[in-house]
Amino acid sequence: MRCHYDDQIAVYRCARSGEYLCLDHARLDVVSVSTRVRLPPLPVRAAQPEDYDAIKEMALMYWGETEVACFDQTYDVLKLPALLAFSEDKLAGMLSYALEGDRLIIVMLNVHPEFQGRRTARSLLAIAEREARNRGLARMVVATSNDDLPALYLYQRWGFVISEVKPGAILAHHGREERGFASIPVRDEIRLERKIA
Ligand SMILES: [Zn+2]
Repeated sequence: MRCHYDDQIAVYRCARSGEYLCLDHARLDVVSVSTRVRLPPLPVRAAQPEDYDAIKEMALMYWGETEVACFDQTYDVLKLPALLAFSEDKLAGMLSYALEGDRLIIVMLNVHPEFQGRRTARSLLAIAEREARNRGLARMVVATSNDDLPALYLYQRWGFVISEVKPGAILAHHGREERGFASIPVRDEIRLERKIA
C-alpha cells in the first residue's frame, strides 16, 4: 500500500478521507469520541513457524529490517514469538514480544493501514497481556520514539505509563537524524510499562 501523496509505504490511513499515508504525510488531529466508527475486531492467534515469511515481509515493509533496538538490546523479530491478527487469510497486524525476567517486552507492533480503526492493536495487546498473566509476569513494557504520537496515545490509553526517557538514544543508534511521524525528528527512546493486574 502506497501513500496517497507520493510513492512511500503507507503506514496510516486517514480516519476522515480514507487516504493511505506515509509518515511524512500523516498528521495528528483531535476528534470527538462520537465520530469513532467501530468495526468488529479481527481474530488473533499465536504465530506458527510457517508464518515467519509473512512476519519478515511486514517488518521489512514498515521498518526496513527485522531487528529492533530497544531497552539497550537488539532483538530480531524472526527469533521471537508473535501474535498475529488476520482478516480472512491476510495478515492484518502483528505483535512480536520477548520474555525476560518478570516482564513481557513488546518489540514490534504493526497494523496494516487498511485494518486500522478496528481496534486491531488493542486486540493484540489484550492477548499479549493474557500471555503475560498466564506466565505470572509482573509487567508489560514497550519502547517507542518521541515522534510516534499515535503509539504514545495507544499505549497510554491502554494503561501504560512512561517509566524512562533516554534522550538522544535513537539518534545515536541511527547515527543521523531521521524523520518520523509528521516529519518530526526521531531522537529519544521513551519507555513505558503497564503492571499486570
Ligand atoms: Zn506520503
